[in-house]
Amino acid sequence: MSKRLVILGAGESGVGAALLGKQQGYEVFVSDAGSVKEVYRKELEANGIEFEAGQHSVERILEADEVMKSPGIPEKNELVKKIRQKGIKVISEIELAYRFKGDSKIIGITGSNGKTTTTSLVYQMCKVGGLDAALVGNIGFSFAKQVALDPKPWYVAEISSFQLDDIHEFRADVAILTNITEDHLDRYDYRFENYIDSKFRIGLNQTADDFFIYCEDDPVTMQYIRNYHLKSNPLPFTMNNETNRGAFIKNGLMTVAAGDERMQMSIYDFALKGKHNQYNTMAAGIAASTVGIRKDKIREAIESFESLAHRMEPVATIRGVEFVNDSKATNVNSTWYALESMNKPVVLILGGVDKGNDYSLLSELVKEKVKAIVCMGIDNAKIHESFKNDTPVIVNAASAQEAVFASFRLAAKGDVVLLSPACASFDLFKNYEDRGDQFKKAVRDL
Ligand code: ADP
Repeated sequence: MSKRLVILGAGESGVGAALLGKQQGYEVFVSDAGSVKEVYRKELEANGIEFEAGQHSVERILEADEVMKSPGIPEKNELVKKIRQKGIKVISEIELAYRFKGDSKIIGITGSNGKTTTTSLVYQMCKVGGLDAALVGNIGFSFAKQVALDPKPWYVAEISSFQLDDIHEFRADVAILTNITEDHLDRYDYRFENYIDSKFRIGLNQTADDFFIYCEDDPVTMQYIRNYHLKSNPLPFTMNNETNRGAFIKNGLMTVAAGDERMQMSIYDFALKGKHNQYNTMAAGIAASTVGIRKDKIREAIESFESLAHRMEPVATIRGVEFVNDSKATNVNSTWYALESMNKPVVLILGGVDKGNDYSLLSELVKEKVKAIVCMGIDNAKIHESFKNDTPVIVNAASAQEAVFASFRLAAKGDVVLLSPACASFDLFKNYEDRGDQFKKAVRDL
């Protein structure tokens, strides 16, 4: 009898897993407590996959041999608790994709910040270097779906901690852990250690043939790495010393020593600016080098990389005021890097849904660079309280348009208005893209 696979959540991961499951002969049932987007509904119907929306048929679900839980569904969900109690095996989408990927190889990228940028950089290096790879995962295209519909010898996968929580066999040939800072604690019982555990799972099943790329300047990574007894080859990147293996930046020159070749490149030739992107570039460069991409190709990819939307994205300069969209900065650490890279006075747009933020980390940079804060959220009290001694002006705005008006009023020629909210967006917006898009529209309408 075929194995019963229940899939919770009918979004990108859920539908991708359903397609792969069906193709591989599972009896698939998809259940989503909310509504299912039209595109996904059609895809399920076209493939004859049974699904339900707006409810969970609990009894049927509890008869599953295996459950694939979409990354957006938390452990505290009542149904998930029942599934766990019954001892049904829960897997993530990347576990299923792994099971059927054959001999193909995986470069997996995780971390609190810089995942999408680093993943895109690695993919760009693969493309320029002629490696036949697919870009999958959190970045927008289901890994499982790619395996089902268009398998490739290489997968460059952006992987969230939620995807790592339910892996069993999943193994990345090359793993990158960009950094670890507090994020998503609401999903980890407010225990930072649980979140750290989850991030290190990227190296869990690695063997001595694999590579583990990590940031030696990241205090959390360095404090915990030894606890995990990783078996793979460690390849650090750093700005603080000259490593023999891995990558470092010294006096404006990046050195990558990972594969057979040693490459050097001036950081002034990087298309992406900011210190955080220098870290991301080192990480990606090491990964590309370990898989044999030639140094001239790596260099070409770094030079030609185009910046991504919503990540330090220049929007426009209006009457001498520059507007930058960093809507993707949904935690304090990424806002820290955004501010760090600023060399003009800043009007900072902050706020949204706080995931347990410690704003004191921003205090020094705000004192030094920020002339005014515009709070853009429903509850702004914590921001006022946190920064009242750090900057002379703090005002509230209840929409992107109000925030753009207020910032433009507060800014002078030569200033930057930076949207880098340090918070999630779903109090006022659908998601961070919607927040960034509304910001850009309001700027263009000025
Ligand atoms: P993720 O996919 O992990 O959310 P992104 O590459 O989309 O990461 O970048 C998210 C935000 O984090 C951006 O706004 C950027 O300013 C900031 N950021 C990017 N890389 C890093 C890094 N290595 N360290 C800290 N912050 C970063």
